[in-house]
Amino acid sequence: MGSTEAKLVRPLPLMEGMTKEFHDWCARGELRFQRCRACGEFRHVPRELCAACGSFEWEWARSSGRGTVFTFTVVARALHPAFAQAVPYAAAVIELEEGVRFLGNVVDCPPDDLRIGMPVRVDFEKQTDSITLPVFRRA
Ligand SMILES: [Zn+2]
Repeated sequence: MGSTEAKLVRPLPLMEGMTKEFHDWCARGELRFQRCRACGEFRHVPRELCAACGSFEWEWARSSGRGTVFTFTVVARALHPAFAQAVPYAAAVIELEEGVRFLGNVVDCPPDDLRIGMPVRVDFEKQTDSITLPVFRRA
């Protein structure tokens, strides 16, 4: 092709253990979080122990995918070359209806339009054949 520019791939999650399980659900179009079988508390990022009650018993429970912007920051200078074309963009913490807070992007909203409390819903963007990331859109 003669192009000297390689397409930069953004850093992607390490696909192993519970992180892989989380992303395998995303690849099926389902946002699921761990839910404690003892007390019902949802949690993220994936881990063995419930911080609320100490139980090791849990299941992957489907999220409604609905939430609100809890907080955000606007990234003006890329800290990784793969994001150089994306700036400025907002890194947002989304609070899902289940109580889980999730760091992600509201992909259909310019940073200047983003507001705390804005309703959002999950969508999914395929990154590679094996990795699909959850993203959020204005609800
Ligand atoms: Zn618990």
